[in-house]
Amino acid sequence: MDRLELFATPAAGRLPVLNETGIQTVINGPIPVSADGEPIMGLAPGLDNFYVACGFTAGIAASGGAGLAMSNMILHGDAGMDLWPFDVRRFGALHAQPRYLEDRAIEAYGSYYKIHWPAEETQAGRGLRRSPVHEHVAKAGAVFGSRAGWERPNWFAPNGIGPRDVPSFESKPNWFSHVAEEHRAIRERAALIDQTSFSKFEISGKGAEAAMQRIAANELGGPPGKAIYTQLCNEKGGIEADVTLLHVDEDRFMLVTGAAFGLRDSGWVARHLPEGVAIRDVTNAFGVLNICGPRSREILQSVSDGDLSNAAFPFLTARRTGVGHAEVLAVRIGYVGELGYELYVPQEMRRMFTRRCGGRGNRSESQMPAIAPSTRAGSRRAIFTGPPRFRQTQILMKLGLASAWPWKRASSSAAKRLPQSRPRVFPANFVLSRSMDLRRSMAARPSCTRAKLPDMH
Ligand SMILES: Cc1cc2nc3c(=O)[nH]c(=O)nc-3n(C[C@H](O)[C@H](O)[C@H](O)COP(=O)(O)OP(=O)(O)OC[C@H]3O[C@@H](n4cnc5c(N)ncnc54)[C@H](O)[C@@H]3O)c2cc1C
Repeated sequence: MDRLELFATPAAGRLPVLNETGIQTVINGPIPVSADGEPIMGLAPGLDNFYVACGFTAGIAASGGAGLAMSNMILHGDAGMDLWPFDVRRFGALHAQPRYLEDRAIEAYGSYYKIHWPAEETQAGRGLRRSPVHEHVAKAGAVFGSRAGWERPNWFAPNGIGPRDVPSFESKPNWFSHVAEEHRAIRERAALIDQTSFSKFEISGKGAEAAMQRIAANELGGPPGKAIYTQLCNEKGGIEADVTLLHVDEDRFMLVTGAAFGLRDSGWVARHLPEGVAIRDVTNAFGVLNICGPRSREILQSVSDGDLSNAAFPFLTARRTGVGHAEVLAVRIGYVGELGYELYVPQEMRRMFTRRCGGRGNRSESQMPAIAPSTRAGSRRAIFTGPPRFRQTQILMKLGLASAWPWKRASSSAAKRLPQSRPRVFPANFVLSRSMDLRRSMAARPSCTRAKLPDMH
């Protein structure tokens, strides 16, 4: 009652009628908070007919929109609006670990009514999953964000700049110009992108190609060795997933998708696989580096015995090739609109891989053509950056592919980074805001168009 008095007394001052009615019953009950503070809705992964609608921290005021969405899901298999921020499949087993969940929920509750900044990151439960190059990028000044438990560099703070986000609604955030420098390096020189966090699945068994072709919009036919960028569609032609399929062997594909989409996309595939075709998560089996930029071929060729020419290794092909002492799966693809190669390196080889490639780069530093002079005179460096479409910008380091070279940081200039918006609310009108979020979601269905990938020679 003492705690309630804090609110009840001023309320009675504003609404004198409350003095007459009095307080009949006091209910002090728990309010549910999910790992990110948002509701959890949808068909439970792995189950056929079990729907979830809980974690409504904002309150029962969301029940109208939530009820509509849930009935749409149950009756029609689709919410009828883009509800990804609330989708049950954004959480996997790692989010269900009680201590992790507790830490995240406490943070989510504590920050629920604070001002939320564009592209802000959560701080609780961090450091759960780390890429093989994590320590390298940390030393290079990486300012990390978190996706699906993975630590991923969002940007790199140059010397003299504090490695932390300084957000802003009115002006540009502090990382703006540093990210611009990463973009410039990719367009003009070369870069390594650490894509280890991407979700990866192996789909194998007799009939794998036919099963995938049934849900894939792009053409999968032809001999193994193809990389196919495709959407996976539902029976209405709507897009369920946006993935890369690597046809690595007869009746064996690798599916690559965003770090946070693994459960969603693999679940969609699993529902459509016939007897004898299996899907298995191989995310943690590979470290993935994407070397990209107009000079990436020259650089990779200097540490590879394979023929990387356009004729021998054309766009959208995949093959095994030697890089350093390691045999890796190399894929001629990328997400930055430039020449590039993704390298899938078995986890147990990644130390040797980086050491070997780093050593090679070190010895041939004077011949490393890919590293154009940066804005700091005399220093030559490449930039690791995340695929812009995933809003993950990453790093800078001299190109030796890692440890043998000293890490350097880039200097600044201007460019744009896309902020990720997340529906958030403010204290005074939280109930209203939440209902409006649902209404806005209904109005703003996602576009289904996507530009064709350019073939960069
Ligand atoms: C005092 C109070 C006043 C509020 N006033 C408002 C208001 O004015 N307006 C507003 O919009 N919102 C209000 N809210 C918030 C609103 O009630 C909650 O946000 C809303 O009920 C949350 O709905 P939910 O279904 O997500 O969770 P809940 O309603 O909490 O439902 C969760 C259910 O799961 C069950 N459960 C828990 N653990 C397990 C388990 N292990 N196994 C099986 N079942 C389990 C619980 O028994 C419960 O039935 C108020 C909340 C409180 C406590």
